[in-house]
Amino acid sequence: MTEECVAKRVEINGIVQGVGFRPFVYQLANQYNLKGEVANTSSGVSIHLEGNRQNIESFCRDISEKKPPLAHITEIDLFDEPVCDHQAFTIVDSREQLVMTTLISPDVSVCDDCRHELFDIHDRRFGYPFINCTNCGPRYTIINDIPYDRPKTSMKSFKMCPICQAEYDDPENRRFHAQPNACSDCGPHVSLFDNTRKKVATPNPVAKTAALLKQGYIIAIKGLGGFHLAADAENNDAVVRLRKRKHREEKPLAIMSYDVERIRKYARVEQQEAELLTSPQRPIVLLTKKEPNSIAQAVAPRNRYFGALLPYTPLHYLLLSQDFTALVMTSGNLSEEPIAIDNEDAFNRLSHIADYFLIHNRDIYLRSDDSIVRKAAGAIRFVRRSRGYVPVPVFLNKKVPPILACGAELKNTVCLTKGNQAFLSQHIGDLENLATYDFFKLTIRHMQRILNVHPEIVAFDLHPDYLSTRFAEEMESINKIQIQHHHAHIVSAMAENRIDGPVIGLSFDGTGYGTDGAMWGGEILIADIEKFYRAAHFAYVPMPGSTAAIKEPWRMAVSYLYDAFGDKFWGLDLPLLKEMDAIKVKIMVDMVNKKINSPLTSSLGRLFDGVASIIGIRNQVYFEGQAAMELEMLATGQADSIYDYEWITTEGHQILTRPIIQGVVNDMNNGIHPSVISRKFHQTLIQMFSDLCAVIRKKSGLKRVVLSGGVFQNSILLTGLIKVLEKENFKVFSHTQVPANDGGISLGQALVAAAVTSR
Ligand code: ZN
Ligand code: ZN
Ligand code: FE
Repeated sequence: MTEECVAKRVEINGIVQGVGFRPFVYQLANQYNLKGEVANTSSGVSIHLEGNRQNIESFCRDISEKKPPLAHITEIDLFDEPVCDHQAFTIVDSREQLVMTTLISPDVSVCDDCRHELFDIHDRRFGYPFINCTNCGPRYTIINDIPYDRPKTSMKSFKMCPICQAEYDDPENRRFHAQPNACSDCGPHVSLFDNTRKKVATPNPVAKTAALLKQGYIIAIKGLGGFHLAADAENNDAVVRLRKRKHREEKPLAIMSYDVERIRKYARVEQQEAELLTSPQRPIVLLTKKEPNSIAQAVAPRNRYFGALLPYTPLHYLLLSQDFTALVMTSGNLSEEPIAIDNEDAFNRLSHIADYFLIHNRDIYLRSDDSIVRKAAGAIRFVRRSRGYVPVPVFLNKKVPPILACGAELKNTVCLTKGNQAFLSQHIGDLENLATYDFFKLTIRHMQRILNVHPEIVAFDLHPDYLSTRFAEEMESINKIQIQHHHAHIVSAMAENRIDGPVIGLSFDGTGYGTDGAMWGGEILIADIEKFYRAAHFAYVPMPGSTAAIKEPWRMAVSYLYDAFGDKFWGLDLPLLKEMDAIKVKIMVDMVNKKINSPLTSSLGRLFDGVASIIGIRNQVYFEGQAAMELEMLATGQADSIYDYEWITTEGHQILTRPIIQGVVNDMNNGIHPSVISRKFHQTLIQMFSDLCAVIRKKSGLKRVVLSGGVFQNSILLTGLIKVLEKENFKVFSHTQVPANDGGISLGQALVAAAVTSR
């Protein structure tokens, strides 16, 4: 029976390069007896098919349904083509095209197949720390340009041996066109050095590293997106030494274990959390500690959680298989600097922290920190969205012009838009030093190149002193749009939930520059994408010492107490007033009265800090949000009542902190346990915000509430507020794709800028 032969061209866009897509297409074409060819293009993958019409239809259906695990298809287009009598189905070399819209895969953890080979003594890659295939391995961090082919990656300096080349050329092989394909004969290798750069003579650097870790040494290990500093997580001395050398006093350290079973020894792992841990993205997952546990006290002091992750490179697997419960795997930097990625740079910067260096000779082109997630209110919440997730875009509900959004100051990320896709960068860090600022500029250049975006608009924060603001202002021939911080927060949540306004937006964080020059942070906005107004906010209180009041919550405590009690606060029986020098407290009061270096703030983050200090948790913090975080963790008590709350209504509503502070102090005086006070404080906020939303709904008719800002990393507040608001028939939107903190703000900035300029 002869059937009519037809020809079609199938154009596929999305993450379809470097994820085993062409071999999948090749096998599918053979299965349906189709001839033709497939090629990577700069816009995705292009397939020419010839054969029976029905088979072509089945082929197209299978493309979407059976695609490789890492592929992400955004568009499939079908075109008629003339038949040109192909004799077979072939894979052709990449073509460069003028339109470059291809998506690049993030770095993904080593797959199960490769892991089995890694530990199979009969496999030729047994114990080889760089094993990978089309389904796994490095991507984003080794790519310098597109299209994604070996010469455009840091694998270009390794010439494949004949066996690897044969795998690479064989469409039936799992390593067919796996760009980083390598083996111990032809690929990168590891070596061990001491911190004077003397090579350690050993036949097995990985096993030697494990032995040194067991003896309590600190080792800098080159990974996928940068260096880690590793130590045995059960050795308290080693962890304390690491903290001291790294100048990282209290911030929790991430720990890595071989498998979920081992993590269960020290932390509770629910089903959804196990799925996150084992996902190809391999993020750090915040898990509730089990008590008692064998992990060193210094890993996460005064914290109810461990940040744990599973190995994601073959090298990690080889190390962790040497019988560790867990290894500390913290970023290879001195506090606040970007992580080291380059061997030379690592030796220069980390020699006084690490005793040894386990390095390798494959370059990292772009650093990418580990991502951090947690489960809260039934969904994944990003604390940091970086390795494993970047550069997967957030898909928008409409197309926007090419925009660069510069983000905020802390936890900076940038965002580039292209059509209906918004690409957030990996975590860049706090833009407070030159090294981080350089990384910020490098990331912008790199992303523009690999995404082929030429921004017409730059969006940036209203704060005049941010480095990102200065960067934007120095750009030439580009449309500049300045955006209010808390509006950007709300719009970032609207963007990932694909909603336009208007909405009631609860924008709660530590600090952001307000349109009146005050430090905002406890804002209820009525907002659409383009504009907003303040429906309610916390009444202003002074921040004596400005940014010093962020690092020293006792300053905020004095400010709130003085506001609530006037001079009578001196007579209160509070731990803070016993611990702090009366002269220092007096200076704060004078600063407030004389308005010296005491900017006004409406920040909810500062209120958390102040309450934490008043109830005796801490007067000083070592990292951003520490006091607020510890206040949340303390909220284990049962509270059967809440504090009085009050707002005054003029143009908008101004929430008074006075009655809440008075209630907290009253409870302290009555000997109520801080764990009850903390719980009561949380319940008060939840009830109060819900009441306020009801009042605003009555006047505005708005039923949709959007939650954003760093305060929503507080899971009691997030969970409680969603529950109460939904009970009151509000539709609630929160973050599940980008962080609620400033790490997500560039997405909001981009969308506001698009709306403002399309007016
Ligand atoms: Zn693999
Ligand atoms: Zn080889
Ligand atoms: Fe913020």
